[in-house]
Amino acid sequence: MDLIKPCPFCGCSASVEEVEGGADPVRFSVGCDNGDEADCMGYQSLTTFARRSDAISAWNKRAEPPLPVEPPGHPVIRAPDTRKSFP
Ligand SMILES: [Zn+2]
Repeated sequence: MDLIKPCPFCGCSASVEEVEGGADPVRFSVGCDNGDEADCMGYQSLTTFARRSDAISAWNKRAEPPLPVEPPGHPVIRAPDTRKSFP
């Protein structure tokens, strides 16, 4: 079974939902399990796929964690340049 990554928006688990309608009898979409779309943008994926594995791989692509915020640079501690202080 394909691993479904956690929701990129709220971090909770996500699952495949079967969606009816369209040209195909059943399509698949992945949404997070957060239950209330007011709480999470990932509640339901807008895109549906004919194959479950396609829905999961598309979700997993989107679910890449955001790039880590660069921490403030370590302060560079320089030894005083005594050569200039004593010409
Ligand atoms: Zn979510």
